[in-house]
Amino acid sequence: LFARPCTFFYAAQKSDQLPPPGLPEVAFCGRSNVGKSSLLNALTGQKALARVSQTPGRTRQLNFFNLAERLVLVDLPGYGYAKASKDMQRDWQGVMFDYLRGRPNLMRVMLLLDARIETKSADRAAMDLLNTAAVAFQIVLTKADDVGPVKLAARIEEAKDLARRNTAAHPLVLVTSSESGQGIDELRAEIASLAVA
Ligand code: GDP
Repeated sequence: LFARPCTFFYAAQKSDQLPPPGLPEVAFCGRSNVGKSSLLNALTGQKALARVSQTPGRTRQLNFFNLAERLVLVDLPGYGYAKASKDMQRDWQGVMFDYLRGRPNLMRVMLLLDARIETKSADRAAMDLLNTAAVAFQIVLTKADDVGPVKLAARIEEAKDLARRNTAAHPLVLVTSSESGQGIDELRAEIASLAVA
């Protein structure tokens, strides 16, 4: 599946701009700087894929990518950016919640957590939102190459604990690095299992 081209086809900034639901969708979310763009690029093997979204001032949009006519990858806006105003945070929650609630073809949300740092309140808020909307999500640790083995093991345990305690969470925690390629094939396999045949 991932040997095939993945192409950007739609950007939505507001809830009423979402494309009509079609192919199954897998959405990616996480705090800004979690490594989401790098992960999307590593997954698809397309170095500049997620850069489409990084036009300054237009970063708070949902970007839709068609993967070989079998699946749509959705790049959700990064949340928890320290400098973002409360209004911006509210807007983000609004658009994301509208998308999550009203998306019958959304198969799973990949919730990215930085393996190097503790889970923040914005991450817990995102998980609460996913539980409330009853949207299946899976925790993906990023930047695993940048953490020592002891700390990484502790972060994996923490993530597994979160997966157990959050009702909408998938039990399998994925450990990835866009730098080393760790866990990328596993993540691809998870996503491929959700695509149309
Ligand atoms: P985004 O804001 O979530 O899209 O994050 P980016 O993909 O732009 O990455 C944010 C920063 O983290 C950049 O400086 C990346 O070089 C770095 N980064 C991303 N992925 C990895 C990784 O797997 N390992 C390491 N060590 N750094 C990473």
